[in-house]
Amino acid sequence: PLVLGIETSCDETGVGIVRGTTLLADAVASSVDTHARFGGVVPEIASRAHLEAMVPTIERALKEAGVSGRDLDGIAVTAGPGLAGALLVGVSAAKAYAYALNKPLYGVNHLASHICVDQLEHGPLPEPTMALLVSGGHSSLLLAPDITNDVRPLGATIDDAAGEAFDKIARVLDLGFPGGPVIDRLAREGDPAAIAFPRGLTGSRDPAYDFSFSGLKTSVARWIEAKRAAGEEVPVRDVAASFQEAVVDVLTRKAIRACKDEGVDHLMIGGGVAANSRLRALAEERCERAGIRLRVPRPKLCTDNGAMVAALGAEMVARNRPASDLELSADSSLPVTETHVPGVHTHDHD
Ligand code: ATP
Ligand code: MG
Ligand code: FE
Repeated sequence: PLVLGIETSCDETGVGIVRGTTLLADAVASSVDTHARFGGVVPEIASRAHLEAMVPTIERALKEAGVSGRDLDGIAVTAGPGLAGALLVGVSAAKAYAYALNKPLYGVNHLASHICVDQLEHGPLPEPTMALLVSGGHSSLLLAPDITNDVRPLGATIDDAAGEAFDKIARVLDLGFPGGPVIDRLAREGDPAAIAFPRGLTGSRDPAYDFSFSGLKTSVARWIEAKRAAGEEVPVRDVAASFQEAVVDVLTRKAIRACKDEGVDHLMIGGGVAANSRLRALAEERCERAGIRLRVPRPKLCTDNGAMVAALGAEMVARNRPASDLELSADSSLPVTETHVPGVHTHDHD
């Protein structure tokens, strides 16, 4: 199926077009530079930027894919979770195009999309898929027997998300926003063993699949403060490398444990933090040792984009999942177990 996907859950206006598991177009307009001045995403600015970028980005994607709206088998859109006002822009646009073109509409879950996007890179997902989803708003271990219909949370962060920790530490180090990419870059020239930062929730009596990064964040901030108070220079590269190591050590350890416990021999890593080069390298190393096949999409498909939404939409069409109706609304806290939002008045669009 040929599906167009729209993503506006945060600060990226993404429009992707796929045919089945083949990527045809991935157009992304980001307002991240505007937010950088404020040190974080400003919801009102994000909504307005989506509004301005929406139609041009849809047109750019159609042109890139070399298809016309009439050819589409469906239009998918992120229904949640995310920023309410931002989501609303994408949902409204998707409804308008679905109505005008008379195509089925699929409101899908952003987190399930972050997993499903890997089909565009590595072909159909194995079932079940074990997924480690790490982004600015989420850090979860998910078991997905069926990405269109059955996603089960095994564990999640009890405080900060992994990406949020990267962003906060970058702020303490005056590295700007978003913090992930710059910490990743600086860490390559630092020593990951220079400072022993804490590994949250790794005690024998701690929950096996939950994460905690706020203690780590506090510990790193205190360490930096102490250096500054002593009038010493902060070894930014070593701090970045040691902090990053603490995060990716826990993430990979717990993900592999979950695979072993559940008898799953594949691990998928998705979300913006999956773009992290050290996470990718350590996961590769540990998975190989554990006999687990690792699947991580290329960095551009890990951060928010429209192709991931189209990928999940195409799977919905392929599996005959019920479409959403034109009353579809955005749900800023859509639970991960709700992979899509079927219409109340479900009918066959064919
Ligand atoms: P959501 O949490 O709803 O999925 P999001 O806004 O977090 O959405 P993503 O694009 O999935 O959007 O992830 C962005 C996060 O990923 C930011 O916190 C950013 O710092 C982090 N990130 C991006 N690249 C890297 C990297 N190379 N290393 C570590 N973190 C990264
Ligand atoms: Mg983003
Ligand atoms: Fe995301």
